[in-house]
Amino acid sequence: RLEVILGGMTRDHTDSNSESVQISHIVLDLSVNFETNRLGGHVDLNLTLLKDSNSVILDTRDLTIKRASVVETDEDLKFDLGESHNLGQSLTIRLPTNAQKSGSKTVIRISYQTSPNASAIQWLTPKQTEGKVYPYLFTQCQAIHCRSMVPIQDIPSVKFTYSASITVPAPLIALVSGLRKTQTLSDDGKTIVHTFEQPIPIPSYLLALVVGNLESRKIGPRSDVWSEPEMVDKAAWEFSETEQMIKCAEDIMGPYEWTRYDLLMLPPSFPYGGMENPCLTFVTPTLLAGDRSLAGVVAHEISHSWTGNLITNENWEDFWLNEGMTVFLERKIDFAINGGNSYDLSVIEGTNALRASIEHFGIDHEFTKLIPNLKGIDPDDAFSSVPYEKGFAFLSYLESIVGKDAFGDFLKSYVKKFKFGHIESNGWKEFFLTFFKDRTSADKLGEIDWNSWFTSPGFPPVDVSTQLNKDCINSTFDVVDLWLNNDEIPKNAKDFTKWLTKQQIVFCDRLLNLMKKSLTENDDRKAEFRKKLKLIDETIGLRKSKNCEILYRFYLMSIAVEFDSIYDDIATFLSKVGRMKYLRPLYQSLFANPKTKQLAIETFVAHRHEYHPIADKMLEKDLEISS
Ligand SMILES: [Zn+2]
Repeated sequence: RLEVILGGMTRDHTDSNSESVQISHIVLDLSVNFETNRLGGHVDLNLTLLKDSNSVILDTRDLTIKRASVVETDEDLKFDLGESHNLGQSLTIRLPTNAQKSGSKTVIRISYQTSPNASAIQWLTPKQTEGKVYPYLFTQCQAIHCRSMVPIQDIPSVKFTYSASITVPAPLIALVSGLRKTQTLSDDGKTIVHTFEQPIPIPSYLLALVVGNLESRKIGPRSDVWSEPEMVDKAAWEFSETEQMIKCAEDIMGPYEWTRYDLLMLPPSFPYGGMENPCLTFVTPTLLAGDRSLAGVVAHEISHSWTGNLITNENWEDFWLNEGMTVFLERKIDFAINGGNSYDLSVIEGTNALRASIEHFGIDHEFTKLIPNLKGIDPDDAFSSVPYEKGFAFLSYLESIVGKDAFGDFLKSYVKKFKFGHIESNGWKEFFLTFFKDRTSADKLGEIDWNSWFTSPGFPPVDVSTQLNKDCINSTFDVVDLWLNNDEIPKNAKDFTKWLTKQQIVFCDRLLNLMKKSLTENDDRKAEFRKKLKLIDETIGLRKSKNCEILYRFYLMSIAVEFDSIYDDIATFLSKVGRMKYLRPLYQSLFANPKTKQLAIETFVAHRHEYHPIADKMLEKDLEISS
């Protein structure tokens, strides 16, 4: 063994010694093997020593390390894999003797292959794709899964540029979170080498790879949409507002720095709504509502180009600086394009999501703090609406203190100051207070209770929804009340079909919340609510909705009132969709009721191999199944 032995994670979800040695650039050279479900090849790491050190320590998980060497001399380097623990396994590599002093630089090569079980990578068989002919793979590295794909300093405060060379079976296409360079067919016609470059430094969680039978359509001057050929025209139509959104974001935050903004629409097993991989946002096909009503997710991912990707949270406890800031921007874009009604409804939808998260964890739970303590905890376990919506609430509150125009100036100046770097909450606070010192009265700034916002659990200290124009929201709530408090169908019930999707969502959330609240007080009302839900569905057609946001809420209501003739639909939905936003609440609700617990387990066991490894792992915990 080498000298440095660490007993598990010492800090920030990493084993790495990034305080002594830092990666500044990487070169990936990988081949994709669909027979063994492995990536194999090597990575070159450009290292700079910040302090004297005789070794570099990297994060890995389930990697087979074959060799470590110095690129320039091909000299072998000693390496040692540490004990495996819940967040991975350290890889300690002895540095060459001429590169152990502070200030020195070296480039080392690690030859390795990934495991078929790599937590970042989902391998799809041809049967699991739309086209049914070719296999497919995609990655999801956030939060700490990059280490299962590349030996790396898997920590958001280390940022590096990269280039990549990916060899795939012809005629498949590889794309990464960077700019496309060349595509070269081998002499025997069997493989294609795709090369890429990412000239802007990124954290490891933004590394991304997709390989499949992909086709693209141009949707804007700097944007193509990619997907399997069967879906690409639908996707191009659904996301045609992309350029308008980018321009809007530029007005708020300054120039778009990443050259390209392409979209990749994945197969249904993609576990998130979207992932802001630079130059190539990944999105779920559940956004294909056929009416562009869910394309707001794209505004969110575009916003990450500034908050998250240019300026990155220093560690996962400061995740609100990525997500709260991004929700704030996303809603500014929504306001500019769709107007105040749409904005107000989004805020109410978000407030509702926050309430659901707080109720799920419990009002005093650590994960309901804006800045939770995540020592030793996988960030995936803490994932919820809290950093998104409590973060949004905090920023809205701050904006109300300093004024909209001044806050707009602050955002631009924030990007100028911190782009290409990272930031943590106290640094953010300091910058905010310095910026507003001469722009806002000391009394006003003194009003801000930073401590409560940052560290108290539960609901935000200030309810920002009081700032909204509630006319539309109240009239929506009135319709829900009419449904619940009367036996006959409300006169304006069918207006529902003409509403904005967001208004329909607010309607469904309200209905679900009132039913659930009433049921906790009196379980006997289930039969009554079941009849009511049936009537509502017959009147406004929730069950037949093409929109996953509506459908999923209808399913949650059906589970709450034990509407058992819907259970087959729910099981089918769970077998087709891998987005955790839907899967987890549906499975959790089924599991919570003894009558449907078995259905939850059976459905999961039958389909878990079709979910992404991250979704599989989270659901395994939700359903208390031992692995
Ligand atoms: Zn986000």
